[in-house]
Amino acid sequence: MILALANQKGGVGKTTVAVNLAAALAERGRRVLLVDTDPQANASSGLGIRVSAERSLYAALVGRVPVEKLLVKTPFGLDLLPSSVELAGAEAEFLELPERERLLQRTLSPLFSRYHFVLVDLPPSLGILTVNGLCASQGVIIPLQCEYYALEGLSLLVRTLRRVREGLNRDLFLFGIILTMYDKRNRLSREVAEEVRRHFRGTVFEEMIPRTVRLSEAPSHGKPITVYDPRGPAAEAFRRLAKEVEERARQEKASG
Ligand code: ADP
Ligand code: MG
Repeated sequence: MILALANQKGGVGKTTVAVNLAAALAERGRRVLLVDTDPQANASSGLGIRVSAERSLYAALVGRVPVEKLLVKTPFGLDLLPSSVELAGAEAEFLELPERERLLQRTLSPLFSRYHFVLVDLPPSLGILTVNGLCASQGVIIPLQCEYYALEGLSLLVRTLRRVREGLNRDLFLFGIILTMYDKRNRLSREVAEEVRRHFRGTVFEEMIPRTVRLSEAPSHGKPITVYDPRGPAAEAFRRLAKEVEERARQEKASG
């Protein structure tokens, strides 16, 4: 199952969910590839990996290096296709390329059969990199922060998903909404979570990612939370989320 983490808002938890869900799925014995498409490369550095343009997804997208050569085996049981800042020029650079929305799909397709899950971490925009990510994916996971403006911008994202479905990727579907930075002691946080659940019902994952400082510390140690703080509440939340994600993936497959 190929799943993109999408939300054009920055700081909502896309990368945190991508990295830690990938690690939790790997911990369950799944074969997992994490694809970092954000020029800020937070998913890569969060796993302790920094690469130059020639060793990053960029080199594969422009056809300079075969993608297999760029895969990094992490010590956490998952593979990473790392990003680098050169992807920031993608908007302008890809403009001239034929079928520029399908570059990522074409780049990744030889890898798909090797993995149970491919998680694609997207940048905070609705530009060409995000469209490439949506074009290459089967399902979309939308992280929403449990705060007042959670739903702001969501209609624009939903419109983008619809446009991609109509033009580029017919089968793209909303795999699930994940509530992040949940603080059970905070009334607003609880209210937002309830409202989102009322609005989107079964689409929202049961599991919510708690707000904890350990989750914000882990990237600077280059480790997923399941390794940095393996017995903490966030690690346990990601383990339960991984189980839910596997369950949904199984149902999706069964329903065709
Ligand atoms: P995005 O990829 O959507 O921009 P990030 O995952 O990078 O968002 O998260 C933004 C910031 O918030 C980061 O500094 C991250 O460490 C922090 N953060 C994300 N999720 C949590 C959480 N559940 N608890 C505490 N801090 C979090
Ligand atoms: Mg990010």
